Amino acid sequence: MNKRGVLTVISGPSGVGKGTIINRLFEIEKNLYFSVSATTRNPRPGEIDGVHYSFKSREEFEHDIETGEMLEHAVFNGNYYGTPKSAVEEKLSAGKDVVLDIEIQGARNVKRLMPEAVLVYILPPSIDELKKRLVGRNTEDAETIKGRLSTAYRELHEAPELYDYFIVNDMVENAAIKIKDIIEGERCSGNAMQEVLKQILEEAENLA
Ligand code: ADP
Ligand code: 5GP
Repeated sequence: MNKRGVLTVISGPSGVGKGTIINRLFEIEKNLYFSVSATTRNPRPGEIDGVHYSFKSREEFEHDIETGEMLEHAVFNGNYYGTPKSAVEEKLSAGKDVVLDIEIQGARNVKRLMPEAVLVYILPPSIDELKKRLVGRNTEDAETIKGRLSTAYRELHEAPELYDYFIVNDMVENAAIKIKDIIEGERCSGNAMQEVLKQILEEAENLA
């Protein structure tokens, strides 16, 4: 039976732990597809092109926008970030569940284009802890951290109206399990089960 995959969007303030939680999620739930975004920001130490992001020049990124290759894109802290359309479409049509790690403008656009998407927002246990994590990661200079924190405060105001679920990242393991449970629940939703329901109804009609 052809069942469309569940599209889960994960957002949250920079440094809250999205990447860490998603890594754990993919360890405990193997049957998911992570959409590798494109970006014009510089790679951090240890980030691999094609695994963490597809790192692109502004020209390459703008070309991809013009040719319609992005499902959505946004500017975050002066850099472009975007989700490649074809891979996401292909996986969902094949019944694979897809996870996006994107910021709030992108989440809003995805929800508009695909209202069945499930939107999950990760919260820090406190703002103090968020600052500690962002500084402690040691991947951005003071100016960039300041920019990311003010973006986070803006996002936090807008998130309550947009997202379906909110998860506090106190413990990575708990947060990853909660996302896994949300995806599992969504697989049984009327939306995800449309094709299955249609087929059963057809069989029932043939019997009648
Ligand atoms: P994001 O992807 O949201 O920007 P990261 O996954 O890079 O955030 O996490 C930011 C920092 O916080 C990392 O140093 C990570 O190890 C740490 N971190 C993530 N989750 C937790 C947690 N539950 N408790 C303590 N530290 C955490
Ligand atoms: P970072 O530079 O910390 O990896 O990511 C910065 C922000 O960009 C995060 O909030 C992350 O979720 C978001 N992001 C990553 N990829 C995409 C994308 O493809 N589209 C959008 N809209 N945001 C993205």
